Amino acid sequence: TLVSVNSPTSELQALDAAHHMHPFTTAQDLARKGARVITRAEGCWLTDSEGERILDGMAGLWCVNVGYGRRELADVAQRQMLELPYYNTFFQTTHVPVIQLAAKIAELAPGDLNTVFFASSGSEANDTNLRLVRTYWQEKGEPQRDVIISRWNGYHGSSVGSGSLGGMKGMHAQGGMPIPGIHHIDQPHWYNEGGDMTPEEFGLERARQLEAAIEEIGPHRVAAFIAEPIQGAGGVIIPPSTYWPEVQRIVDKYGILLIADEVICGFGRTGAWFGSETVGIRPDIMTIAKGLSSGYQPIGGSILSDEVAGVIAKTEFNHGYTYSGHPVASAVALENLRILQEEKIVERVRDDTGPYLKTKFEALAEHPLVGEARIVGMMGSLALTPDKASRAPFEAEAGTAGYITRERCFANNLIMRHVYDRMIISPPLVISKEEIDILISRAWTALDEAH
Ligand code: PLP
Repeated sequence: TLVSVNSPTSELQALDAAHHMHPFTTAQDLARKGARVITRAEGCWLTDSEGERILDGMAGLWCVNVGYGRRELADVAQRQMLELPYYNTFFQTTHVPVIQLAAKIAELAPGDLNTVFFASSGSEANDTNLRLVRTYWQEKGEPQRDVIISRWNGYHGSSVGSGSLGGMKGMHAQGGMPIPGIHHIDQPHWYNEGGDMTPEEFGLERARQLEAAIEEIGPHRVAAFIAEPIQGAGGVIIPPSTYWPEVQRIVDKYGILLIADEVICGFGRTGAWFGSETVGIRPDIMTIAKGLSSGYQPIGGSILSDEVAGVIAKTEFNHGYTYSGHPVASAVALENLRILQEEKIVERVRDDTGPYLKTKFEALAEHPLVGEARIVGMMGSLALTPDKASRAPFEAEAGTAGYITRERCFANNLIMRHVYDRMIISPPLVISKEEIDILISRAWTALDEAH
């Protein structure tokens, strides 16, 4: 049964279908079609087992920010594996890569977010946050503050804790989520849910649901509010400009901790180092992962403000993962941050390639199938609609138009993702203007073919 990258595609697909269960996938459907086998990648381009070159409009899963094939990252990993492949940080030991990385993150993160607790993924980091904010209030002498407010259609991960914080109803329907103590409010999704309100009115209305929820639960019972600055997996939902200032006012008024889940937004995706800076908020805790290492190693974490870290410092936080602050992952992440900084990748997204992509991407709204085309930095989405005037979704077959368009992108060697009838892009931050032109032209073709 030994196969290699040179094996026939059909053989690879058959073995994959026989033994490998894919995340978020109906296995029977995949077995019928066979998964596309990706064999290598360079820059923004994937190569499959048939030798086709595919433009990756999603940076993997929103993570390969510096692009594929960066030799520096491989070299650092090899060096670190030979020097110290593993050591833990549990019992009064530490190591140089994790010291360097934590200090670097503290330097880059805004305000007084200066202390990092590491994990291997965004899910693990949000599980940490769940326990961290409750521990914080216990230490402050307010143990009854144990409710965390989050949003429907937010995404915070796939473990039981982080999936419960998230508001994906399809996930909640399986396997015992959400766990108790989490309260969901509505998302600021003006295009689908705004009705007759202006985006500004709607942004305020949705933010004030937070205040209403706090009053209903009891202000003395609420520990934290968690949200993505810009929702990613929910469909790249860019909130109206009024939303976040009002949320900040409310969390300040009630003294509730604000957790910004920056797993997608962090490390340049929105054209600033962090999405919190783009939307103008001051979180007490940030969740990070993905772009931290550009996906070259699994690493994530929680960045804590001085106040939160100071309170937690008084107790033993009985929490940690074998791979918290893994030396190889830490070394690779540090090198990735060096690349982002030295090549001024965030500045390029903000001032050069980002604005170029924005102009081209927003022009897709002229396509008959597209009701809205919006983008911040390098995360954008198209809302597909049968009726631009009413912003109606494709009611009867929710997701089908998106699915068909995604399939047409795939056939045209462009990776775009769909969430129901929203089409998403999140390319590597190093995408060039020439590659942006190719992305946009393939998206037009796919939309024409789907129409
Ligand atoms: N938080 C956000 C905002 C995400 O987008 C994701 C993943 O897409 C996660 C958390 C979970 O991260 P992971 O898949 O690394 O566990």
